[in-house]
Parts: sequence; C-alpha cells; structure tokens
Amino acid sequence: MGPIKTAIVGSLPKPEWLADPERLRAPWRQDGSALAEAQDDAVALWINAQEKAGLDIICDGEQRRRHYIWGFIEKLGKVDFENPAKKQSRGQRYSEETQAPRVLEEWSWTKPVLLDALRFTKARTKKPVKVTLPGPMTVADSVYDEVGGRTDADFAATYATLLNKEAVALSEAGADVIQIDEPCFNIYTDEVKDWGMEMLEKSFKGVSAKRAVHICYGYGTEVVLNWKNSNTDWSHYSTTLPLIADSSIDQVSIEKAASGVNLSVLDCLENKVVMVGVIDVGTEEVETPKVVADRIRHALEHVPADRLIACTDCGMVPRSRRAAEGKINALTAGTALVNREIGS
Ligand code: ZN
Repeated sequence: MGPIKTAIVGSLPKPEWLADPERLRAPWRQDGSALAEAQDDAVALWINAQEKAGLDIICDGEQRRRHYIWGFIEKLGKVDFENPAKKQSRGQRYSEETQAPRVLEEWSWTKPVLLDALRFTKARTKKPVKVTLPGPMTVADSVYDEVGGRTDADFAATYATLLNKEAVALSEAGADVIQIDEPCFNIYTDEVKDWGMEMLEKSFKGVSAKRAVHICYGYGTEVVLNWKNSNTDWSHYSTTLPLIADSSIDQVSIEKAASGVNLSVLDCLENKVVMVGVIDVGTEEVETPKVVADRIRHALEHVPADRLIACTDCGMVPRSRRAAEGKINALTAGTALVNREIGS
C-alpha cells in the first residue's frame, strides 16, 4: 500500500478458447450461450489476475468486445463490419487508407449496453471498477457514415448524445471510473480544440463517477510500432493536456513507456489524477520491477505521488496472456518498490 495507485488502460488478451489470441478484432470461437459463458469465464479469470497482482482499480479486460469500438457501437444500430468502406482515418498516420465499418442506420440508445457486464464485474471485486467507452472523435474517425454523410464533427455530436446516456446509466449503476478512449486526441490536435473537447465534456454531462480520458499513440501492433519507431514529434500532449487541465475531467491517461514524450507536458495538470504509462504494450518482453520503478520515479518529477496512477501505455489485447500477466505483476511490483521508498 502507498500513495501511488495502479491500474491498466483497459483491454487484455482473450484466452485462446474465446478468440484467436494476439489479434485485434479476432472472431469469437464460440456462439450463443457458449459464447456468453466463455466471456463470463474470461472476465472472471482476468479479475482474478488483477486482484492477485494487487491492482487498485479493476476492469473486465474488454473480454466481451471483439474490438474496443466495435463491441459498443454494434449495439447502437446496424453497422456493416463485413464490407467496410475505405477511409483516410487516423490522419493517415499509420496507413493511407483504413477499413471503416459502414453505418447503415441512424443510431439510437434504448438501454445500457454495458450494464450487465458492469454488474458482473462489481459482484466479483470489492475494489473500484472502471468501465471504458470509445470517444466521439475516435468513433467518428473510425466509421463510414452511409446514413447522413456527416462531417466527423457532426457525427461525433450525434454519437456524444448517445454515449452520454450510457455513461450516466453506468455511473448511476455504480461504475467508479468511466474512461472515454480518445487516441485521436493525439492526432487531430486542431480539431480537439475546435470540437473534440466539447464532445468529450458533452459525453460526461451529469456523470458522478470519476471522469477519465485515455489518450495514447495506439495499440502495440506492427503498423503502429513502425510509426512510433520513426516518429520524432511527440508534442501532441502539449496541445491537448492544457485543455484537459481546464475541463471537468478528473483523470487523464497518457502513454510514456513507448513514446518519446517529454513529461514536462504534465506540469499543467494541477489537481488532475494522471495515469502514466510505465508499461510498454508493444513488446512481449516483460519489464522488470526495477525498470517500472525507474519510470515511476521519472513521472514523480512532474506528478505528486498522491495524484499518480501507474498504468499501462494502452490496451494489451494484442499481447500473449503470459506477457500481459507478467506486465500486470511487474506494474504492481515496480509501484510497490517506489511506494516503500516514499513510506520510509
Ligand atoms: Zn490506447
């Protein structure tokens, strides 16, 4: 125990009996009630692993979603994932065109999508529970709007209204932290200023759970790692974090372990809790507790211990189970080393 807390961003690898391992968007290996049972078992398995490692905030590892965006939006209306359109997504950072699922009807929110999943997790841990939801800018950038042909800003505004209903429902049902994932905040920095922050705030209106936003440089997949290895401009947070500082957001998750970000960008975040990525999600190699502790000590130069959550850089769905388990254990062991130093 100590002032520095621990959490992971969200996703964890699927067990091999649930979906093809180490793949994004891997198809399910079960159907119907067998799928539901397998998802429950996978969530229980990962809750146990997080509890055993001693994480302070628990999540379901997104075991019920094939993909962090798909698993939510498919419940809002008809989306064609099988015949995607080509779109210049993610500012063409990772590739010229990406496959964007087609939105085939106007989305609506009639009941909470993740409520049963939240109740399942809450029933299996006494620790605070975090739920993750895909953010308006990132969803708008990821889909092809065949219904309205709207701009991303207009599409995001419509989606944010629905997302807000979900966030309020989960908050009222006892979610302790609601995290909205906005990796696109590290790409479209002008648009974040123009409308992205406004849509994020709109998504959180009336939410009493802790409000968190995750902003990263992407999953540890080959195409993203290629970009990261050749990138030299890590200034994006210096635009977005001052906007977060002036917002109602309580917690912000940033990527550090695998990025070249200068942590002085965190100096503006007075009064915010900062989840600093001290675990690289792009490697199978498990960090030693000493490496994790060194990264935390570096973060402490910019964030006081009582506002610091040691975290992963991003989700771990593309990793092996062995690596993800090892990284969770390294995260808590490294944090314990620093907490002991602070306590003595
Ligand atoms: Zn991420």
